[in-house]
Amino acid sequence: MNGHFAAVGEKPTAKSYEHGIQIIDEDKAFTTNLNEYLTESHVAEAGFNYHLISVFGSQSTGKSTLLNHLFKTDFDVMSETARRQTTKGIWMAKNKRDSSHADGTKMADNILVMDVEGTDGRERGEDQDFERKSALFALATSEVLIVNIWEHQVGLYQGANMGLLKTVFEVNLQLFLKDRQSQTRSLLFFVIRDHIGNTPLANLRATLIQDLTRIWSNIAKPQGLENSKIDDYFDFAFAALPHKILQPDKFLEEVDKLSKRFTAGHRSSKDQELQGGVFLPEYHRRIPADGLSVYASGVWDQIVNNKDLDLPTQQELLAQFRCDEISREVLVGFDAVIAPLEEQQAEATRLGKLVVLPDLGAAGSGARDKCVKAFETQASRYHKGVYAAKRADLETKIDARLKALYQTQLSAAHKAGVAAFSEAVTNAVKAGQKSGGSYEFAEIVEKQKKTSLEAFKKEAQSLLIQGVAWTNFKPQYRMFEKELDEVSARLRKEEMRRLAIRVERWVRSRLNDAVGLEFNKLGSGRGGSGAPESGDKPASDKDLWDRVWAAFVGIVGEAETRFSDRAKSFEASPEEVEVGLWRLRRKSWVALREKIEEEMMESNILMKLRENFEDKFRYDDEGVPRIWRPTDDIEGVYTRARESTLALIPLLAKFRLSETQAAPDLVGFVGVQPKGTEPEDEEDLVPIGGVDEEEGKSLEEEVTVLGESKRQDLVVRFKKMADGVYVEAKRSAIGGITQ
Ligand code: GDP
Ligand code: MG
Repeated sequence: MNGHFAAVGEKPTAKSYEHGIQIIDEDKAFTTNLNEYLTESHVAEAGFNYHLISVFGSQSTGKSTLLNHLFKTDFDVMSETARRQTTKGIWMAKNKRDSSHADGTKMADNILVMDVEGTDGRERGEDQDFERKSALFALATSEVLIVNIWEHQVGLYQGANMGLLKTVFEVNLQLFLKDRQSQTRSLLFFVIRDHIGNTPLANLRATLIQDLTRIWSNIAKPQGLENSKIDDYFDFAFAALPHKILQPDKFLEEVDKLSKRFTAGHRSSKDQELQGGVFLPEYHRRIPADGLSVYASGVWDQIVNNKDLDLPTQQELLAQFRCDEISREVLVGFDAVIAPLEEQQAEATRLGKLVVLPDLGAAGSGARDKCVKAFETQASRYHKGVYAAKRADLETKIDARLKALYQTQLSAAHKAGVAAFSEAVTNAVKAGQKSGGSYEFAEIVEKQKKTSLEAFKKEAQSLLIQGVAWTNFKPQYRMFEKELDEVSARLRKEEMRRLAIRVERWVRSRLNDAVGLEFNKLGSGRGGSGAPESGDKPASDKDLWDRVWAAFVGIVGEAETRFSDRAKSFEASPEEVEVGLWRLRRKSWVALREKIEEEMMESNILMKLRENFEDKFRYDDEGVPRIWRPTDDIEGVYTRARESTLALIPLLAKFRLSETQAAPDLVGFVGVQPKGTEPEDEEDLVPIGGVDEEEGKSLEEEVTVLGESKRQDLVVRFKKMADGVYVEAKRSAIGGITQ
């Protein structure tokens, strides 16, 4: 075999493709290197812009010689001296003729020529089999079939070449049995060799058409195609060439002219006659160049194994194969962009870090777009249904990865956003507190929420891909907003706590002053040195508790107003305010009790009793200090002062209102526990007797300031002290006389 051709089994090199490739060898094996050849010769990238031609004809009719001259190929030619048989098989080579002619015409791009070598021995069954198979293969793939014929064979209906045409017609019908709707046509291009010139081409042509019609009418037609006409499947073109050996110059000249016909052609709209070149769009098999090798080998496989050749199925299989291949190729580019991003996210997850990848949306949609477009460009040339399905598969694959990326991204943005929001609000509150407490909590929350929502929205929108439904992240946005609201509620609750503490502190301080004042007034009604009330009528000890209660109710009322005003200003709910007020009243009562207990500490109360007693004993009704004389009724004054002071003890012992002689209505004051109270609202509350009944402490106990034993003890100690004062007075009276 010619050394320039790559044989079927040959390991190919660039050099070995120089003159083409043997695509089917004498053992009917199909080459594994066709695609490599097509790539090497830059046909593979041409899409549909290529043409396939086959040549038919009896052995040694100068077919290879013709092709080599026409397309500057290097097919094996029988040596004129040796006359040895060329090897059976099918070769393919790309047109190498300089495609632009001097007159401006230009040969079509990427013409692939197939040289089909058979043997002449048509009697031999095996060879007929190969001839039939290669005819079927050529018809299934080629746009133009060159039929090479000697002039002297024209009209010889029984000639070997006519047998060949019969075969071509038969296998053609076999093809269309399965593929009726596509109705691909082919051009039979008769090249009449050794044309002497006596018979004009037009006559030869008429004879040939007559013969062809006769052959057609005689072939067995399959069911359903009985009435089909030869014109349904074939167009015809004719050319004649002079004798190559006898008229070598004319031969070359005519071949040159002939080459000009290998350009695009069309059908005239008037009479449907062929015009222009031989390549009509309707001849093209519509197999993209990058799928040609797979398609051709699939077709050959079916033919060799005597299966029914079903071209539509072949095209679908090809489409599936190629679409998968293209899909894998375009995914490589997608992967190059996406895999590093996936890695960054995985790394962040491993380290437990929140990472929001910059410009993820642009990278993702860019990679997606590029990938899908690349797929579209290459794969859309294949079977439409298969292409659409494979494209959907590809998008599903891409989107699954983008989805995972985007969801992780948004979840990171969500968490980071919530944390930032909480921190920003807390910091703003702190800053407000530092600068004197004049801040509006609701405003801070509103402002930070807006900022956070905008940041999240921006991120979510950057991930949006036009026309891709799943990239609409509104639900995630709403989830984010919901969580911000939850965080706000929590922060507001904390803010309420801080407010409550401030108000409670204020209540305590006011109670300290007010209650302290009332206790200081004890006994002042009668005594001399007790600060007299200016203008007001002197306070009576009897209504001490009325005054304490009134002051308390007044202070708490004021505190309640402060609390609810402020709480409303940061948009606490009415329920939250209710709970806060309820807590405030309870805590205020406890604070009052504590203040009373402080006033009633033994040392304090003893001192008050002593002051009360001394006021009455040592000063007269005008508030003038007494100088005891022996004649004075020291005992009487002493007894009166002592009894009136002792009378204070039962009064002080219980918090009672004078009007009712009963404890104030604590239950009514504290009020019913509001519905919205949460367990944590009750955690730090001290039980109040009579209010919290289950605590086992009665209201009576709650308002008891001095217990029985304490009272006894106080009486004893007070008496001792009073006795001491009395003895001292007595002594001073006697002493006054002696002096
Ligand atoms: P193939 O078997 O059909 O491919 O024929 P080849 O191209 O191998 O040529 C067979 C023989 O025919 C060779 O010896 C050629 O020199 C000869 N030949 C080629 N072209 C012509 C021609 O135009 N006229 C004649 N008479 N012989 C030719
Ligand atoms: Mg040959």
